[in-house]
Amino acid sequence: MPINILSQETINKIAAGEVVERPLNVVKELVENSLDAFASSVTVEIEKAGKNLIRVSDNGCGMDKKDLELSILRHATSKIENFEDLSHIHTMGFRGEALSSIAAVSNFDVKTRKKGESSGWKLSSNGGKNVSVVPCSGSEGTITEVRDLFFNVPARQKFLKSDSTERSRIISSFEEIALANPEISFKMFSENKTVFSASKTNNKLERISDILGKDFAKNLKRAEVEHPKVALDIYFTGRDNSLANKKYQYLFVNSRPVNYPKWLTHCVYQAYRESIPHDMHPGILIYITIDPSEIDVNIHPTKKEVKFADEQSMYDIVYKIIKNTLVSHSYPEIKINIEPKEDVALKTPYTLNNFTHQHKENYSLRKDDNVVAEPISKYNPKNYSIDKYANVFARQQEFSPESFDENIKVLGQTFGTYIVVENKDNLYIFDQHAAAERVRYEAYLSQIKTQSLKMQQLLIPETFDISPSGAAVLKANIALFNELGIIIEEFGHNSFRITAYPALLGTVAIEQIIKTIVSDIEDDKNAEMKEKTDKIIRCACRSSIKAGDSVSFIETKKMISDLFKCNHPFTCPHGRPTAYRISLNELEKFFKRK
Ligand code: ADP
Ligand code: MG
Repeated sequence: MPINILSQETINKIAAGEVVERPLNVVKELVENSLDAFASSVTVEIEKAGKNLIRVSDNGCGMDKKDLELSILRHATSKIENFEDLSHIHTMGFRGEALSSIAAVSNFDVKTRKKGESSGWKLSSNGGKNVSVVPCSGSEGTITEVRDLFFNVPARQKFLKSDSTERSRIISSFEEIALANPEISFKMFSENKTVFSASKTNNKLERISDILGKDFAKNLKRAEVEHPKVALDIYFTGRDNSLANKKYQYLFVNSRPVNYPKWLTHCVYQAYRESIPHDMHPGILIYITIDPSEIDVNIHPTKKEVKFADEQSMYDIVYKIIKNTLVSHSYPEIKINIEPKEDVALKTPYTLNNFTHQHKENYSLRKDDNVVAEPISKYNPKNYSIDKYANVFARQQEFSPESFDENIKVLGQTFGTYIVVENKDNLYIFDQHAAAERVRYEAYLSQIKTQSLKMQQLLIPETFDISPSGAAVLKANIALFNELGIIIEEFGHNSFRITAYPALLGTVAIEQIIKTIVSDIEDDKNAEMKEKTDKIIRCACRSSIKAGDSVSFIETKKMISDLFKCNHPFTCPHGRPTAYRISLNELEKFFKRK
């Protein structure tokens, strides 16, 4: 087979395929160039979802004639000089291939006037050919115009989706950039109509409110962590504001919107696990400002992924900060102030150089004093694998229980399910089942932890049969069941026998519980030991007092006071709320006494 050397034109078109898959990539690359040019205002105009026109205008530093000519050459960049520079990227772009790629597949114009110069220059090209540069007038900054995208790559054109789909992709991508850069004002027009407009602010929450809506923003909690190498600013929904989908989950690393890496998604969901129902999702925006040498931004063709040098530490910090805030016993949840705060300095990538020197040695938490994070240097990931229960326990222990007033008044039970309680200036309505489940769950954990599990021996062991696949699962996990106090023995083919189980479970249909656990484990074959442990304990506790059972006054009072001693009194182990609260204040307002 004869080998051909490809022409520069073909090489550029191939390269364009990687960078410019669809109109949204053009918008993203051009807006990133404006940000890198220190623009404080960026406007995007599109026609026919960017297929006919994409125009990005900025008031950034502009280019002189020489740079303008270089800018559309492949591998032409002002942002890095050599390979080493890749390890400390401060800019959005760095590969020097966006303009050449975009120019190769469109009719392309750049009008630019460098700051301080009296006039500017205009570059035009058609599919990367017929490049001309002529003088032009215009204000300082740059206007990049991309027309007839993919006119010379019909295969790409066919690959594009409907205008409404492509348009909404552009808008989402632009929204992400706007969320990441509140200190810059953004405008977007489609067919000359305003799609959105966000004026600059030094308050992220204001920007979040502009883009994602006031209703979403007003309920967000906020937590900040600072460290010599990393600063985190996290905005997230509380226990009562979880969402039905994952739409509102954003990650920004040095002002770059990126996808959540798997480990970080895991971290966030673990932190929320006991606070929200399993089928709900948190809304969360994590802003990370990090020393660029601690991340690799060059791992993805469209720069949508970032690799962290120290994922484990980051996992730990994010986990702690969210978890601590979620389980803080204040109820109702603290609302954050939308007013700009003077002490919250927003860090753009351009200040990252000074970043290390600006910040204090240890984490200091500005918002909630009960949130305590440790400096990265002290963190030892091994702590988490010492024993298989470590995760379950370590995380339960981080939070010191708040002491409730001793004078809890249990007023009674209503609708056969709810317990009405007065404490301090609050009236609580507890879901009896959820509350009992929480109490039992924490007691179970604590008895195992302290190796003081109280057992009840069965006078006559209970024997049961199970399906062959269930039997296999049970055999494989029999040691774990036994360690957790559910003593099972093999008793012939696919038959087992239970001789004892934890006393705190009371009188339960233990065989049924075991079968449910086994099918749970079967459904999640990849579950690790600690997840299985947790499954067993949770499932066993589900057999707590069932809603509808009537309970004696003494029992109820004890349960409620035990609940207030729990680490997470306000959710059941499956994430449902345990209590509804009405404050005296609210009652007085309702009855117009105030
Ligand atoms: P990269 O952003 O990776 O450097 P690009 O192909 O996107 O590569 O841009 C090439 C160069 O053109 C940039 O390094 C920058 O110097 C210049 N440039 C592009 N867009 C602008 C702009 N809007 N304002 C000023 N300079 C720009
Ligand atoms: Mg660029």
